[in-house]
Amino acid sequence: MPETKVSFPHLGSYCVPIEYLFTRGVGVDYVTPPPITRRTLEIGSRYSPDTVCAPFKYNLGNYIETIEAGANTLVQTGGVCRLGYYGELHEQILRDLGYKVRFVNMARASYSNPASFYSEFLSINPDLSLKRVAAVLTLVLKMVEHIDAFESYMRNNVGFECEEGSFDRLHQDFLASLSAVESHKELSAISKLYMRRLKELPINRPKNPLRVGIIGEYYTIMEPFSNHFMEKSLARMGIAVDRWINISNTLLHNPSKKVITHIKDYAKYDMGATAMFSIDKALEFAKKHYDGIIHVKSFGCTPEIDAMTVLQNISNDYKIPILYFSFDSQTSETGIQTRLEAFYDMIVMRKEDRK
Ligand code: SF4
Repeated sequence: MPETKVSFPHLGSYCVPIEYLFTRGVGVDYVTPPPITRRTLEIGSRYSPDTVCAPFKYNLGNYIETIEAGANTLVQTGGVCRLGYYGELHEQILRDLGYKVRFVNMARASYSNPASFYSEFLSINPDLSLKRVAAVLTLVLKMVEHIDAFESYMRNNVGFECEEGSFDRLHQDFLASLSAVESHKELSAISKLYMRRLKELPINRPKNPLRVGIIGEYYTIMEPFSNHFMEKSLARMGIAVDRWINISNTLLHNPSKKVITHIKDYAKYDMGATAMFSIDKALEFAKKHYDGIIHVKSFGCTPEIDAMTVLQNISNDYKIPILYFSFDSQTSETGIQTRLEAFYDMIVMRKEDRK
């Protein structure tokens, strides 16, 4: 039997803790998917149903490229919307294309029953030690929290860096250093060190910068390629960007009950995936007098389509502009930049008017 070489689709910087989990916890070789490019999206789209949402196409492109890179065991994410059904469809498409790989579908496991994840991991490595995977998992979850905290500070300040690229370089060094940690103590020390270095980087931040909050659907908001590196474009315009939606805030700290209470004047029922979080954060950004909000989602994302009408009510009530982006495999870069520049001009003029 060939040696197991596992892979999991890209999702921003989370590829670092994911690789750590499989190599250190599950004890198997890991093939990091090649960086997402136009080719990833093109091959993913070529073999996907046309109207399926973009994460399906990106994940399929990732799978094909990792098989080409040597992976023979693909792990599917599972998920809180139709993402949970994608695994079976991906598997069928890959089989029809003639790929002979093993598929581990995490949709079969349940967040309310962590032991169910263990049985999925066992199917990858039958010699797996429960003690070892549990210890590594707690370390990996902490790692995710440190990455999220680092990136949150970064997106709020990178637009004011004095030396171009200084934030990005430190970010890459920080991510690289995480692969070498051996314990919670080391993780905490390394994260503190890099956070301190990050805060020491020289910035030229105005007293009252333009502030934009980003909300939207899990994949599109967290995988920079899929939103055309929007946070970078906003930083280049000198905007402080806030984005609450990440793995720590939504899945690890699980604030769903509080969210329903916060937004009771706007929505009564959970519409699924990130919809309630988008509404909650839009309301918070509006109450904190942000200059604008950007909503990002994949074309055809039903939970976020449901949220959009509610977001428009918040926009009207609080007089805060919201720019909506819906991405698919055909989205034009020029169109995105033009709309972002128009949005920027508009929020600058509004700020001037309010002086
Ligand atoms: S949240 Fe939306 S875009 Fe993401 S997988 Fe679900 S339906 Fe698709």
